[in-house]
Amino acid sequence: MNIRQIMMNSIKELSSSATPKLDVELILCKVLDVDRLYLHINLDEDITKEQETEFYCLLNQRKEGRPIAYILGHREFMGLDFFVKEGVLIPRPDTEILIEEVINLSKSIKSPLIVDIGTGSGAISVSLAKYIKDAKVYSLDISDTALEVGKINAKNNNVEDRITFLKSDLFSSVENLNSKFDIVVSNPPYIKKDDIYNLDKDVKDYEPILALDGGEDGLNFYRRITKDSLMFLKENGVLAYEVGHDQAEDVKEIMIENNFKNIKIVRDLAGIQRVVIGF
Ligand code: GLN
Repeated sequence: MNIRQIMMNSIKELSSSATPKLDVELILCKVLDVDRLYLHINLDEDITKEQETEFYCLLNQRKEGRPIAYILGHREFMGLDFFVKEGVLIPRPDTEILIEEVINLSKSIKSPLIVDIGTGSGAISVSLAKYIKDAKVYSLDISDTALEVGKINAKNNNVEDRITFLKSDLFSSVENLNSKFDIVVSNPPYIKKDDIYNLDKDVKDYEPILALDGGEDGLNFYRRITKDSLMFLKENGVLAYEVGHDQAEDVKEIMIENNFKNIKIVRDLAGIQRVVIGF
């Protein structure tokens, strides 16, 4: 079988995916260890029986709904490459606006000390360490898998010397730290408990519920982190969140109740109120 034939045969089998052609090409690239351009200029090249078997094995996983990022083992975020596996949420483009805002905020702070609550794959921490050259980042997560994956991503992106990974229930592991933080950043679990069952199959069957479940009204972690952040932020410290599509006003309210004086809401490129920042 050649590249053209295997692509033609399999794209129609992936009708369950929103991007069948792209998924097929990416799986084929992984199996053949080539890039997409190579596929398109070598459509008549034969593939081996072993490659064909491996391809169909991965294709079947995709057919069942396993996200392409877990199949490939990585995902691009903020122009950086992140290793991902089951047990950590796949970085989403929705979160990039949060990174951009924090980068801007940090411009006026010398050697900012940042803490990322619920670091997951490390996408937020690693991007901030990468793009804010003098930042020092504490990356906290309760999940061992997250810490393991986060450390790999910090190393792969050459920022491991400026990130400290700690197993932590929210702020618990930094309670005895001598210094306070300039910025608390978080993309906490924010899906309402009852809405988890309505998420796409690819998400609810494969991504960690721990990283999605925000409790009854989806706001549990915003309440806890906002309250606790008062103890861990410097006088002029900043709290920056990603929020769900309809949560910005509620999160703003939570910040006001906790004495944040100025609140900024930022829309993402889709027009959704995606980031809430408290000063
Ligand atoms: N954006 C994710 C989703 O909609 C949720 C991430 C989160 O809970 N922080 O699946």
